[in-house]
Amino acid sequence: MNKSFIKKINDLSLKIKPIFDKSDHIKYVTDWRGNFHGQASVILKPINTEEVSIILKFANENNVSVVPQGGNTGLCGGATPIDEMDSIIISTEKLNKIRGINRSSKSITVESGVILSDIHTNVEKLDMFFPLNLGAKGSCMIGGNLSTNAGGVNVLKYGNTRDLCLGIETVLPDGKILDLLSDLKKDNTGYDLKNIFIGAEGTLGIITAATLKLFPLPKLSITAFAETNNISNAIKLLNFFLNELPNGIEAFELMPKTFWEVASNNINNINLPLKEIPKMGVLIEISSSSSKDSEPNKNGFIPLYEKLESLLSFAFEKSIISDGTICKNQLERNQLWHIRESAAESEKKELETTGAIKCLKHDISLPLENIEKFHLEAQKMIKSFAHNTRTIFFGHLGDGNLHYNIFGNGLEPDGFNNKSLEVTDNLYQIVKNFDGSFSAEHGIGQLRKKSLKIHKNPVAYNLMKQIKLQLDPSNIMNPGKIFSNL
Ligand SMILES: Cc1cc2nc3c(=O)[nH]c(=O)nc-3n(C[C@H](O)[C@H](O)[C@H](O)COP(=O)(O)OP(=O)(O)OC[C@H]3O[C@@H](n4cnc5c(N)ncnc54)[C@H](O)[C@@H]3O)c2cc1C
Repeated sequence: MNKSFIKKINDLSLKIKPIFDKSDHIKYVTDWRGNFHGQASVILKPINTEEVSIILKFANENNVSVVPQGGNTGLCGGATPIDEMDSIIISTEKLNKIRGINRSSKSITVESGVILSDIHTNVEKLDMFFPLNLGAKGSCMIGGNLSTNAGGVNVLKYGNTRDLCLGIETVLPDGKILDLLSDLKKDNTGYDLKNIFIGAEGTLGIITAATLKLFPLPKLSITAFAETNNISNAIKLLNFFLNELPNGIEAFELMPKTFWEVASNNINNINLPLKEIPKMGVLIEISSSSSKDSEPNKNGFIPLYEKLESLLSFAFEKSIISDGTICKNQLERNQLWHIRESAAESEKKELETTGAIKCLKHDISLPLENIEKFHLEAQKMIKSFAHNTRTIFFGHLGDGNLHYNIFGNGLEPDGFNNKSLEVTDNLYQIVKNFDGSFSAEHGIGQLRKKSLKIHKNPVAYNLMKQIKLQLDPSNIMNPGKIFSNL
């Protein structure tokens, strides 16, 4: 390593010692799935916004690329440096302070390295609720959630991370601090700059803090599982619930037979909610913050529970569902949610053990009315490339978001007659034909940058490039992510 570079970094006098030793870089230079590998010249762990500013000013003046990293749970390689460059990784793990909770405006201001589940724990103690929730909540950080505009299981009721953010503090590529922290619900003072940084995947600056919306902690949440025989019944059930309980549905997750097979293969001592693996199923979570719904009435029954029972019975009578169960206690709820939240982990293990060679991961969204048609067309297309592949799809049906993952048939070279790239391209074209998006919630990173160029509206794509070049003319911020070239 270049001695003068080491000296310059040491001269920044950061509180936490820079990590130069490559043997200590391993967990920072590989992504969660193990698909992307890079290298870094140094890993820095700033402890406050001022230190982030010092680092970015240095990087800009010396034309050194910078890769921001939170919990490194991203699924598109956005937090992994690209191989050809010797970047600085800025880990936000020490930016982990809760700056304040405002009970009257129902908001919390946190630094970007606070772990998502730590936000949950801290606000729940005060009877408040931060609804962003995803399988990686124990390790992903709020700066990463904002930078990917993460979705998760509660989007149906509360929106994506963007919808939960009132204000942010960002350090720009030249080191300037842009303080847009605020808990105002209304602020029409020109362009909404905070939203440029949300979903920017670290290509425009480093988010150092954010003010987030909080909600009353639900007094009661109930989880149920219902078997529907096909996707269109699952959608009928969703619409029925949305009409009957317009503000009550927190989550509506599609879990078809192939999902359950992978879960059963890879989760120890799994408890199935129904006797048999369902052909098609949905996990439904409803909640209420009102005592009227959540406390026993004069007959000793809990109204929200009764409502759910009556909705499921009605759906059964109308043949929308063929079976169903309501979790009786917290343990049953936790078991069901554990299966759903382990989906990414289960698939990872399935790939390691079945020798499928490759699994093509797709994170798509579609208008609800087109999901079944899309699925039929997609299956036809996949079969035209290779036989005996397996499609494991599941996802946030309430948001029209499917994780549509295709396991290869195990035959060399790639399990898809060497055509895996074409399978994905064709799949995205079908998504487009049905008015959907090829990237619903995980972002672009390195994985989908070629697809972005092909499928994004060209005027929008060029405008995005112009914004990038205006804010970061030397392209030091997370180069090689979102755009193949500028
Ligand atoms: C088991 C599992 C389940 C998941 N479930 C979901 C899900 O349901 N919904 C969903 O949307 N995602 C899901 N994900 C993906 C992932 O958890 C999210 O993308 C998450 O928001 C990433 O947060 P992170 O802190 O790990 O970010 P990282 O992976 O560290 O970074 C992600 C991107 O953000 C940038 N970045 C990180 N911090 C900052 C910052 N402070 N400033 C600027 N840029 C920054 C990085 O450079 C990178 O481009 C899941 C992942 C796993 C492993």
